Amino acid sequence: MTPVGLLFKVNSEGLFTSPVNASPVDYAKIYPDPESEKAIMGSVVYCIHHKEGCQWSDELRKLKAHLNTCKHDAVLCAAQCGAMIPRVLMQDHLRYTCPRRRANCEHCGKEFSGSALEEHQGNCGHEPVYCENKCGAKVQRRHTQQHVQQHCSKRLVPCRHCGQRYTQDTVSAHGAMCSRAPVPCPQRCSAAPARDELDAHLRDHCAAGTVLCAYRDAGCRFKGTRPALERHAEESAQTHLSLVCALAARQARQLDALRGAVARLGASSSGALVWRVADWAARMADARAKDGVELVSPTFYTSQYGYKLQASLFLNGNGAGESTHMSVYIKILPGEYDALLRWPFAHTVSFTLFDQSSSPDRACNIVESFVPDPTWKNFQRPSKEPDALGFGFPRFVSHEMLKKRNFVKDDVMFLRVKVDPSKIVAV
Ligand SMILES: [Zn+2]
Ligand SMILES: [Zn+2]
Ligand SMILES: [Zn+2]
Ligand SMILES: [Zn+2]
Ligand SMILES: [Zn+2]
Ligand SMILES: [Zn+2]
Ligand SMILES: [Zn+2]
Repeated sequence: MTPVGLLFKVNSEGLFTSPVNASPVDYAKIYPDPESEKAIMGSVVYCIHHKEGCQWSDELRKLKAHLNTCKHDAVLCAAQCGAMIPRVLMQDHLRYTCPRRRANCEHCGKEFSGSALEEHQGNCGHEPVYCENKCGAKVQRRHTQQHVQQHCSKRLVPCRHCGQRYTQDTVSAHGAMCSRAPVPCPQRCSAAPARDELDAHLRDHCAAGTVLCAYRDAGCRFKGTRPALERHAEESAQTHLSLVCALAARQARQLDALRGAVARLGASSSGALVWRVADWAARMADARAKDGVELVSPTFYTSQYGYKLQASLFLNGNGAGESTHMSVYIKILPGEYDALLRWPFAHTVSFTLFDQSSSPDRACNIVESFVPDPTWKNFQRPSKEPDALGFGFPRFVSHEMLKKRNFVKDDVMFLRVKVDPSKIVAV
């Protein structure tokens, strides 16, 4: 007889069920013949768990009894969690998945019921977890706070030199560059200045470096360490004072040269000077009240590197013109290029007093000129003495004539002095 065990299943009440809809099958209706039923019950079937691996095979009537012991048949969980578990899996269920199982936490070892263990996992203080600062360390959950505060390589710690906060694993790299970290003095003095103060240390404080004397610009050549410099400064006060005096004298000479250069730049070098004599009335009154009052013009040059000249005026006359005339003279002053010039001075000199009449065609200027006499000592190369005599016209214009025309207008008089290399007398 062929086993037919796979046609039917037996439910928990021991009834056959159709494998399709699991509703009980009234096999009395299907097999009303008791003989037939007897025959069926005697037929050989496989266990309903044949596919799961049960090898049992016997008469159908013995199936129910077999299922009471079949290790593949499901029974209520022995721990009364309510689940139906095949006998063969019961041990496993009770140990690992039954919510009513008793189990120990693998981290702390405490015993829990299954559901409490699930809750406990994820909170167990002994479970190793990764540090939330992502330092890569794994520490027991209960030690994370302590780790983050005391051991984590990503915790912020202050640089002990500058106080800025860095992660613990970068603070020493920072320290190697920190501007406040002490560095050994490159000149090997005993100081260890902060990196950003090293320049100032070397410049102003280092005891090992060579420094120059503060009077070096005055000519002191001393060089030495800072302590030696201090001794030098104490010992050399007198020397330094002399050096400074000499320097002041040199500078005074330079100033003179500069003043001369500036004056030359301002002076006319065209060989002509128009001299504006202002405050004429007051000057005239002054000249009348005192003897020998001489007005001198700005200096001027015959050319850029030419003779240095200066005109002078006696408003109240001089020599033959005293008290009756205005006298004019020209002086040759010691100039910077005298060594290169021809002597005696041989240029024609002319003086022009301008008539400032409002209609120029009626103006009548006064002009006097002369060609220097080569034997006259005033035209030799001038010495450095400032009181060299001039040459000119004591009776250039009479006081009477001055009043007649507009030689003085608005209290101003204009006198032109012109020096010409040609010997032709200009009129
Ligand atoms: Zn079985
Ligand atoms: Zn259970
Ligand atoms: Zn635990
Ligand atoms: Zn960490
Ligand atoms: Zn720092
Ligand atoms: Zn130093
Ligand atoms: Zn010195």
